[in-house]
Amino acid sequence: MTSILNKETEHEIFFHNYARLPLAITRGEGVYLFDEQGNRYLDMISGIGVNALGYGDERLISAIHDQAKKIIHASNLFMLEPQFKLASRLLEISGLSKVFFANSGTEAIEAAIKLSRKWASLSGNMEKKEVLSLSNCFHGRTYGAMSLTAKPKYLEGFDPLLPGTGSIAFNDIDDLRKKITAKTAAVFIEFVQGEGGIHQVSGAFVEELKQLQKTHDFLIVADEIQAGCGRTGKFFSYMHFDIAPDIVCAAKPLGGGLPLGAVIGSNKVEDVFTAGIHGTTFGGNPVACAAGHALIEALYSDNVMEQASATGAWMKASLQKLAETHTQIQDIRQYGLMIGITVNRDAAYYVQKALAKKVLVNATSQNVIRMLPPLTIRREEAQHCIDCLNEIFSEEQQ
Ligand code: PLP
Repeated sequence: MTSILNKETEHEIFFHNYARLPLAITRGEGVYLFDEQGNRYLDMISGIGVNALGYGDERLISAIHDQAKKIIHASNLFMLEPQFKLASRLLEISGLSKVFFANSGTEAIEAAIKLSRKWASLSGNMEKKEVLSLSNCFHGRTYGAMSLTAKPKYLEGFDPLLPGTGSIAFNDIDDLRKKITAKTAAVFIEFVQGEGGIHQVSGAFVEELKQLQKTHDFLIVADEIQAGCGRTGKFFSYMHFDIAPDIVCAAKPLGGGLPLGAVIGSNKVEDVFTAGIHGTTFGGNPVACAAGHALIEALYSDNVMEQASATGAWMKASLQKLAETHTQIQDIRQYGLMIGITVNRDAAYYVQKALAKKVLVNATSQNVIRMLPPLTIRREEAQHCIDCLNEIFSEEQQ
């Protein structure tokens, strides 16, 4: 019997908005994925930065199972213990004041845009509407989030976009000073840009932003959807800087593999959302929240973030050694287990080469090989990835 999971069937039945790999995944175990034939692949993508504990973690499975037996969905008309437990933990970690749960990253961003505009309107300055982001950023695919994502390819043909959005050149302090005015309601920042190719915002840029905030009173919104939940070695990537954002958006690993997003706000915005002002049917699903709580407990109890930092630093050193002999490598950026390698050609070429060797990496920003492995990846597994890249670069040079 031939499998229905093939590229031809995919082409016939789905919209063509994904360039899926020709790989039919059936299950996962640890840091590995398995296809229909039982072939094993080292997963350096982890569901686009979602599966922080890899596959099959018993603590996550038990939390999901136990909660599903109690209740799968009830809605935000009621009080649900898993939401309370996860929200309390997020407040404890961030030192912030209030939580709203959504279903995804883009929905968290959307809610944060609304929260920012509503906060600004309550300030009495009716011109304070502008929501800014940085060039090369990615904030999501719904209209507000997409309007903040200054990437022409993602925007073409979708206009008109959300009015009152704008872009500041990444790490450009002069442009920052020029763009921030009394009309600025909020600035959205990925402290480490993910889709943009793994680039960290500079300390000087963050300092200037803090200074400008004193003059122009706007909100700083940290998009921690990709870089958060331990990915960079601290729970949130803004924690590598001396800054307290007004709003933090989290998602991806937050639901332990189930759809969940969160907006976490400081006391500056805590009274902005009143009953009925914003909402969602599924957001804060109790099974996802129970999984998220189990994830956070595991991250802290097993020192997963420290381990991720150490493994990431080791991978960077190993990649730097490869760069001494392989001229294809132009630059390496690593923050915890968020790794980007700029190469001298289309990174999709290396994705295919690695796939043939049963290692899964991802291409972003055209010429960046991106790796977001499970945070629990062991040294010998990371070594396997380095060996694979070494082989690919060597074969290409011959
Ligand atoms: N923000 C960042 C930084 C992201 O990396 C992503 C997704 O990759 C999003 C927002 C959108 O999240 P989602 O795909 O869950 O809507």
